[in-house]
Amino acid sequence: MARQGHLTINEARCKGCELCVSACPLHLLSLSSTLNAKGYHTVTISEPEKCTGCASCATMCPDIVIKVERD
Ligand code: SF4
Ligand code: SF4
Repeated sequence: MARQGHLTINEARCKGCELCVSACPLHLLSLSSTLNAKGYHTVTISEPEKCTGCASCATMCPDIVIKVERD
C-alpha cells in the first residue's frame, strides 16, 4: 500500500507525554532517545510509509506538535 500521510513533527514543542503514541491505531509512534531543548524525549515515527494520514495523533496532541498532510 502506498504511503498516504506525511507527518511533520515540531520536536522543539514536544513534551513527551505520549498521548499521540496511544492514539495511533497502527502503533507507529514512539518516544526517541533524543532530548529537545526543554529536556523532553521527543516523538518519532517508525515505518512512516505505513502512515494512513488519519491524523488521530495530531488531534490528540495538546501542543500542536504534529502536522499531518495527506498525499
Ligand atoms: S496520522 Fe494516523 S496513522 Fe499516521 S502516525 Fe498519526 S495516528 Fe498514526
Ligand atoms: S502528544 Fe504531542 S507533546 Fe505529547 S508526545 Fe505526542 S507530539 Fe509530543
